[in-house]
Amino acid sequence: MDVPLFSPLAQNRALADEFLEAFSRISESGQFILGREVECFEREVAEWHGMSGAVGVSSGTDALLVALMAEGIGPGDEVIVPSFTFFGTAGVVARLGATPVFVDVCPDCFLLQPDTVARAVTRRTRAVIPVHLFGQACDVPGIREALGGNTAVVIEDAAQAMGARWGQQRVGGLGDWGAFSFFPTKNLGGFGDGGMVLTSDPGRAETARWLRNHGMHPRYVHEQVGGNFRLDALQAALLRVKLPEVEGYLRRRQENVNYYLEGLGDHHLVRPGSSASCACLECGQDDYRGRILLPRLQRGQTPAWNQFTIRIRDGRRDELKKHLAEQGIGSEIYYPLPLHQQPCFKLFNNGAPLPHTETLCTEVLSLPVYPELLPDQMDHVIRAINEWLA
Ligand SMILES: *Cc1c(COP(=O)(O)O)cnc(C)c1O
Repeated sequence: MDVPLFSPLAQNRALADEFLEAFSRISESGQFILGREVECFEREVAEWHGMSGAVGVSSGTDALLVALMAEGIGPGDEVIVPSFTFFGTAGVVARLGATPVFVDVCPDCFLLQPDTVARAVTRRTRAVIPVHLFGQACDVPGIREALGGNTAVVIEDAAQAMGARWGQQRVGGLGDWGAFSFFPTKNLGGFGDGGMVLTSDPGRAETARWLRNHGMHPRYVHEQVGGNFRLDALQAALLRVKLPEVEGYLRRRQENVNYYLEGLGDHHLVRPGSSASCACLECGQDDYRGRILLPRLQRGQTPAWNQFTIRIRDGRRDELKKHLAEQGIGSEIYYPLPLHQQPCFKLFNNGAPLPHTETLCTEVLSLPVYPELLPDQMDHVIRAINEWLA
């Protein structure tokens, strides 16, 4: 049986008629970039988050870039980012000539923690980018508090976490900016690249709107240098078809996680430990039976499970990945190399170790968890893992 790490086919087939209708509508409208369709999509995404301002852009990476540009961040400025994240989170900082300050994450829930941010703040800190990694919500209020008197902005990287909540508020609406991606594997997956910034500050939203179109305002007048970060009308129309389905997708992701936890539960037995480095539910409870560790949750949040990421100790992660591949099961290492050790970021690496990040890069493995997975497929994954552990 084949169990791909991800497949958009079943999800999109179920909506095929509506996609064709959207295509005809756009084709007939003759308006292919920005315009009414993008405006409607922006309004719907803003409403879905209980926010006022949303600006559609060309990707999640460009969403982060536009937010940093709107804040005027550049050379001499420091931006605090976790080292354990997708490259784009820090790439945008370096592209603007600013300095990414790489910090460690909680070893259990994989998220940036307020106390870590507090230790990294300097008078040059202009922004911090908490990443809601794998779909778990970061403690954004705590991170803002950790900035103390510093006026740095908080830009949430919510690319993997659309629909996750901190308390009652959906992520992307907790900081000064929220950045989303509609890359096909994300919780709202498009037919190509796309992204969005959220903000409830009308001035910020307006600046983002100009920046995504070469900083032009009014027509052919440019006070700031922007770029082409525009969203296509067709992409917006297709995403509008899927937006009402996202709640259902998230429910199914949670059901899949429950199924895995049940099937793999024997390996989840943990004993209370002593050192709690963060507020996650089981932080510091480091002893476990078996050789795998199931995902642990940060307190105070409702996750959106974009990834289901387990840890394999004793240097045997790659062995399990190979075993799964032999059974037709897709898995992936997010992420194999810490950002502070990337060749292109040598300049920003002060040599200080980030031990949790470095260990996680050798232990993590993400398993298929997309909404349309079938119980038979998950049984196959569970059987393969239990067999390997036996
Ligand atoms: C996917 C992703 C991005 C970038 O999104 P793109 O749309 O691919 O540019 C940024 N940050 C994180 C954490 C991501 O997972």
